[in-house]
Amino acid sequence: MNRTMELASARAPVALHGVRAERFDGDGDSATLWYRIACPCGGRRGAILSEYLPSEMAGWEGFWADPIGFRCADCDRMRTLFDSARHGYDAVLGGCNGNRQRTGEEEEELPCPACGGLRHGVAAAYRYDIDDLESLGEDGLRQMPDLFTSAGFELACADCGAKQWLGDWETA
Ligand SMILES: [Zn+2]
Ligand SMILES: [Zn+2]
Repeated sequence: MNRTMELASARAPVALHGVRAERFDGDGDSATLWYRIACPCGGRRGAILSEYLPSEMAGWEGFWADPIGFRCADCDRMRTLFDSARHGYDAVLGGCNGNRQRTGEEEEELPCPACGGLRHGVAAAYRYDIDDLESLGEDGLRQMPDLFTSAGFELACADCGAKQWLGDWETA
């Protein structure tokens, strides 16, 4: 493990402090950290709250926009899992955000593409594509778990087990 990943894995990102987050070894490269998400009550399945927006990119119909909410199927509490205006490298260090966010007009529950089920298990993947540690300074190094350069979420349907990728957010 290199220095970046040592620092990045010191704790879970602040983005996950409202939930239980447990590290595990998922797919991907050595610059990616995976966390399995659970509600503070222990519930591992819930609704994903987002808004489906049309994409401006050719070949893409649309995407699920952040902030991404998770509402526990066991206790009904809602937590925000990811908000690109507050989480990730650019938001934390520069206060800027290149992602298109929810308009706030609509909140939808994301369905399973295979069976339409609305309850999912969630795993979060954070990538730390950071070479220049020197420029971060002491404060930056301490914040490393929050300085991920992209975030993605894998969902597993609680009803049929089908997996889907919720999206990739560039945060640097
Ligand atoms: Zn719960
Ligand atoms: Zn399903």
